[in-house]
Amino acid sequence: MADRVVVVVGAGIVGLAVAREIGLRRPGDRVVVLEKEDRVAVHQTGHNSGVVHAGIYYQPGSLKAVLCARGRAMMRDYCAERGVAYEECGKLVIAVDDEEMARLDALEARAGHNAVPGLRRVDAAGIRDIEPFAEGIAALYSPHTAITDFRRVAEAFAADVVAAGGEVRTTCAVDRITRTASGIEIGVGEQVLHADQVVLCAGLQADTVAGLVGGDPAPRIVPFRGEYMDVLPEKRDLVRGLVYPVPDPRYPFLGVHFTRRVSGTVEVGPNAVLAFAREGYRQTDFEPRDMARTLAWPGFRRLARQHWRTGLEEMYGSVSTAAYMRKAQRYIPAIGPADVVRGGAGVRAQALDADGTLVDDFRIDRLGPVTAVRNAPSPAATSSLAIAEYVVDVIDGKGEGALR
Ligand SMILES: Cc1cc2nc3c(=O)[nH]c(=O)nc-3n(C[C@H](O)[C@H](O)[C@H](O)COP(=O)(O)OP(=O)(O)OC[C@H]3O[C@@H](n4cnc5c(N)ncnc54)[C@H](O)[C@@H]3O)c2cc1C
Repeated sequence: MADRVVVVVGAGIVGLAVAREIGLRRPGDRVVVLEKEDRVAVHQTGHNSGVVHAGIYYQPGSLKAVLCARGRAMMRDYCAERGVAYEECGKLVIAVDDEEMARLDALEARAGHNAVPGLRRVDAAGIRDIEPFAEGIAALYSPHTAITDFRRVAEAFAADVVAAGGEVRTTCAVDRITRTASGIEIGVGEQVLHADQVVLCAGLQADTVAGLVGGDPAPRIVPFRGEYMDVLPEKRDLVRGLVYPVPDPRYPFLGVHFTRRVSGTVEVGPNAVLAFAREGYRQTDFEPRDMARTLAWPGFRRLARQHWRTGLEEMYGSVSTAAYMRKAQRYIPAIGPADVVRGGAGVRAQALDADGTLVDDFRIDRLGPVTAVRNAPSPAATSSLAIAEYVVDVIDGKGEGALR
């Protein structure tokens, strides 16, 4: 007889990492992961840049800062142990004008607080030593920023869950969660599962799934599609590692960047365009219910009033390759619109508060026996093993989760 039955909703990298951690820490528990798709890692986990972040950007002391630092080291060790590709190709964050220099200074100070390993500043010549085709006035260089394949990592987590005696059940869309005197009932169509604890890790559906159990309607998930361009094979050698702009501090997105993949391809992107469907990977995807939920949210209307100009610029870049590449050519001029073709896309689950604030930090709420991951945007894939430790601490009643 199992000590406890714990159901995890969502087989993305976060849900699978949580299920794996429960298996490691509480071998007597029965762990069941329920996933609505027919395989794991279909949504954000399978559609991202594959960058293992080193913690440059995040507010010192925030969950993102602490869990990214710990998660990066854990991810590196895990990939080595499980034979998943992991390459420390390093990253440059390049400033190209005086305004960006001021922001680069602020970013350097923040990275210092976050103790980003090996981070150093380089000048124009230093930029060219690292990336011969990149141009800028100065840059931050993070040698331990790495790349991996988070879909493979998630598949390895799923294998660990099963090896520890747990289950990963696909094609199981959770549509009811009811608290009873003896625990919780989870409904998947006609089926009902009984659990002692439930952990919600539903990514793009985080708000709707939390709503099933009476969770706060805020924050609402607003989907932002990130579209990539693929650099043609003959130009791939122009990029050795990761080349990023200095981000605009008004937004949680990092700006269109050059990303080398563990497969050897090179991508430009992702941009950030409001998506008309939460799970819509093409420009033409439109889901009336998702759109209605976005438009009805007061926070979205406030956000749109404040940032409509940036929103329109992003939409223009989405339809015009020349406009898209103009941004990237500021720091790698030798790769232009003729050197790329349209690639894949991902959709970010961006949590938005009712007052129009984009929720920056990871957010994990406890509702009695239900623990809900309400906001797990980038760098949540990097941080997944550390987020899992934190969430299991929360389940075990160790305060808000111990920050190790
Ligand atoms: C374009 C893009 C680039 C990114 N780049 C990076 C990067 O370079 N580095 C990094 O660290 N992070 C990056 N991220 C962020 C990272 O991908 C996410 O933070 C991470 O994948 C979140 O994992 P998750 O498990 O919370 O969500 P998901 O992977 O979206 O998984 C949620 C799962 O829940 C399931 N689900 C939803 N509702 C139900 C239901 N009712 N019943 C059952 N199952 C349900 C979904 O089908 C899905 O499989 C990027 C994201 C995007 C979109």
